Amino acid sequence: MERHILKTSYGIVDENLQSIAEDAIDFAMFKGITMRPRNLSHDTRVPLPFCLVPSKFPSRWFYLARELQPYLNQVLLDIAHSRDVLKECLSSTIEVDEFTSNIYKIFEAVDRLDRTEQSSLGLLRSDYLLNMDDSGNVIGLKQVENNAIAASFGGLAPSVRHLHEFVLEKLGQKAFHHLLPENESDYELARGLIAAWDVYDNPSSIILFVVEEVTYNICDQRALEYAILDTEKDVEILRCTFKDLRTSAILRDEKLFVHGKEVAVVYYRTGYVPEDYEPIDWETRFLMEKSRAIKCPSAGLHLACSKRVQAFLTREGILERFLPQDIADHVRQVFAKQYSLEMTENGDRAIKLGLENPDKYVLKPERDGGGNNLYGEDVKTTLDRIKSTEERMAYILMERINPPAISNCIVLGDCSPEIGGIVCELGAFGIILGSKKKIFKNNYGGHLLRSKRIDSNETGVAAGFGALDSPYLE
Ligand code: ADP
Ligand code: MG
Repeated sequence: MERHILKTSYGIVDENLQSIAEDAIDFAMFKGITMRPRNLSHDTRVPLPFCLVPSKFPSRWFYLARELQPYLNQVLLDIAHSRDVLKECLSSTIEVDEFTSNIYKIFEAVDRLDRTEQSSLGLLRSDYLLNMDDSGNVIGLKQVENNAIAASFGGLAPSVRHLHEFVLEKLGQKAFHHLLPENESDYELARGLIAAWDVYDNPSSIILFVVEEVTYNICDQRALEYAILDTEKDVEILRCTFKDLRTSAILRDEKLFVHGKEVAVVYYRTGYVPEDYEPIDWETRFLMEKSRAIKCPSAGLHLACSKRVQAFLTREGILERFLPQDIADHVRQVFAKQYSLEMTENGDRAIKLGLENPDKYVLKPERDGGGNNLYGEDVKTTLDRIKSTEERMAYILMERINPPAISNCIVLGDCSPEIGGIVCELGAFGIILGSKKKIFKNNYGGHLLRSKRIDSNETGVAAGFGALDSPYLE
């Protein structure tokens, strides 16, 4: 696809590129914009990939994402508490997708307990791409997906804004600060976790971070942890793996205890892909879900942010079930067309669409974590292979968003920096805390911009696809 690449150099030229990039790497390291590398010792940190300068982003669409987030939060929490909707959306997926089925079984078993007072916490992130028409004009913002579990980089996004201030000042830019929007995603997410701890209402209870065996994205998680401790010094945070929880987590009078400490909030930073679980870990997740601790996210909220529910919400008349008509119309403008591929006539029609125009669609399995989507020729060959089998029910077909390319420079630690075309993906954080009966908190929680090279289909940063970025509003 031919793309027009806009220039956003802010005074970067070939002559100063290397030295500015070196200064920026030191600043990034100093600010903790780093991760644990996969191939070096555990106490080593390397800079995360980042864009050298902020990327221009239309303010109109930036503010739209921010404005819509509380509505999306509310819809997703309503769905998390609605067995009928989750059943309607996921009944065919769970027949063919064991991972989703495991989460659904946990949801259903706990939902039967009918605890209307039980709160869930969402530290959500809704991701968007700008969308162009065929002539290359940006005509809007389209949502890529909702993330409910382990949505990352809220801890570090504010530091990327600082990094970009530093770089632009070094480049002699003036009067730009108000164009880099304020971002408190670290403290906003922290306030969400503290609000849940407050609602649980036991000052000696703790917040549990459920983490991977080795956490590569450790600095993002620590940034959030330190923001919590900075805001509420009385709270204790414990980091445990599923393996540790197999023996250390117990239920007593419906309360969750880990290493003898009562848990107020279970915050998952792992558990979003099948590989995160040994079979026995599903029992631990179930045990935690059954407890009175507030889960971030609950199994219901995890499912509410599935791609299948996202596709369901785009159907005519569905959003109105959750929002007043005028607000539903407003929210719908960011939805791209999406189709589930059930064994029905509608499903057949969607398959035909994908086969006839593979370049206009993305084929997505019900998975998070990046690297799973299919594009172009792969859409066609995969649809051809699965069209007559039930396997197709594990996928959705989504209209392909057509984002603009701009120029920037992705700094990758040890490679020499190069200016090239990138595509930006905006994430809007959303914080929601509530039960079936009562909403305690619902707000926008700051933003994240991640960018990828134009020739890449994926944006995951810790997975090595994308780079941390920040918006420069225009
Ligand atoms: P994951 O849950 O694996 O993160 P996403 O739905 O976020 O899956 O898709 C991964 C990446 O694929 C996104 O970051 C985006 O860059 C790209 N992508 C996803 N959906 C679309 C789409 N409809 N059009 C264009 N690109 C897309
Ligand atoms: Mg994603």
